[in-house]
Amino acid sequence: MTEVLHVDPTDPHPAAIARAAVCLRRGGLVAFPTETVYGLGVHALDRAAVLKLFAAKGRPANDPLIVHVAAIDDIASLVTEMPQSARDLAARFWPGPLTLVLRRSSAVPTEVTAGLDTVAIRIPSHPVARALIHAAHIPVAAPSANLFSRPSPTTADHVLADLKDRIDILLDAGPAPVGVESTVLDLSVAPPTVLRPGAVSIEMLRQVVPDVGLRTTSAPAAAMPSPGLLSKHYAPRAPLTLYEGERVPALRLLLRDAETLIDHGNTVVVLAFTEDIEALRDLSVRVVELGRERNPAEVAARLYAALRECDEIGGDRILARTLTSNHALSTAVQDRLRRAAGRVIQGGP
Ligand code: AMP
Ligand code: MG
Repeated sequence: MTEVLHVDPTDPHPAAIARAAVCLRRGGLVAFPTETVYGLGVHALDRAAVLKLFAAKGRPANDPLIVHVAAIDDIASLVTEMPQSARDLAARFWPGPLTLVLRRSSAVPTEVTAGLDTVAIRIPSHPVARALIHAAHIPVAAPSANLFSRPSPTTADHVLADLKDRIDILLDAGPAPVGVESTVLDLSVAPPTVLRPGAVSIEMLRQVVPDVGLRTTSAPAAAMPSPGLLSKHYAPRAPLTLYEGERVPALRLLLRDAETLIDHGNTVVVLAFTEDIEALRDLSVRVVELGRERNPAEVAARLYAALRECDEIGGDRILARTLTSNHALSTAVQDRLRRAAGRVIQGGP
C-alpha cells in the first residue's frame, strides 16, 4: 500500500515530514516533490534499498541516480575532492535545479552510480524536499518518480498512475514548479560539460565557469554518462513527429502532414502552443495545449502532463512544433521534445 500524505508546498507539516524521513532511514521508498519534477527517494547508502528502487521503477541498472543532500557540508564524505568550480557553482545555484557530477568516494554504493567512478549530487530548493532530506539526515538517491520510459511526473497523480502500491509513501504538495529535470554538469572532465540541459542554462553556468561545454553526441547504452540521454526516454506511446525551425514553415509542414494523416484514417493529436491553436481550427485533430510559446517557463511546467494527456487520448500519431522563443528554459524544452520524438522534420531555417 502507498500512503499519500498531503503537505503544504511552502510549509510542510513536521509530522508528515518526520514520518517520511523515518521511512527513508529504514530503507523505504518515498516519492516527494522537488522544484524540477517529483523524485522517488531512497537511502543512498543502503544497497538493498537502492536495488528495491530500481525494481520499483523498472529502471535498468546502468542508469545512475542523483544523490540529493540538504547542505554543502553533506557532500564531503561522498566525493574524493570538491573542486573550486563546484564551490563557486554551488554558491551561485544551490539550492536549485543544478546537478554536479564529481569523483565519488568509496562511501557511495556502486549501485547508485551504475559502476561509474563519479557521483551526481544536488541540493534541491523545494521546501518539501529540503525538509525531508534535512529530517532524514542521510543522502537521498532520487530519480524521477515514474516508471522507466514514461514521461517524468510533475504531479502526485502522475506518480500514483505509475507507482501506486510499488512505493511506501507519497508526499503530495501540488505540481512541481519547473517541470523539467535538473541541468546535469559533469565536473569530472575538462572542460566541464553539460550532459543534460535544464533550468540552469549554459549561459548562466558560463558566468561562473567560462569554459563550460555542451555534450553533443548521444551516448551508447552500455556506458551511459547520463540516463536522461537515453533516446525515447520521455516518449509518449504513439509516435511523435517534431517540426523544428522557424514557426511559419514548420507550422505549414505540420498542417500539411496532419491533413494527409487524417485522410488516411488516423486519429491525430497535435501538441500545440497556445499561439498555434487558431491555425488548427479547421482540422479534425485532437489538440493538447502546451502553453504559450512566448512563455517557455509555462511550456516547461506543462510539458510532461501534456505528453501524458496524449497517451490518455490514445491517438495514432502525435505532431508537435518545437519551441523557437529564447529563454533560459528553451534548450531544455527543445531537448525533451526531441527525446520524445520518433522523427524530427526541419521546417525551415
Ligand atoms: P532521473 O532518473 O530522471 O532523475 O535522471 C537522473 C540523471 O542523473 C541522469 O540524467 C544523469 O544525467 C544523472 N547522473 C546520475 N549519476 C551520474 C553520473 N555518475 N554521471 C553522469 N550523470 C549522472
Ligand atoms: Mg527519469
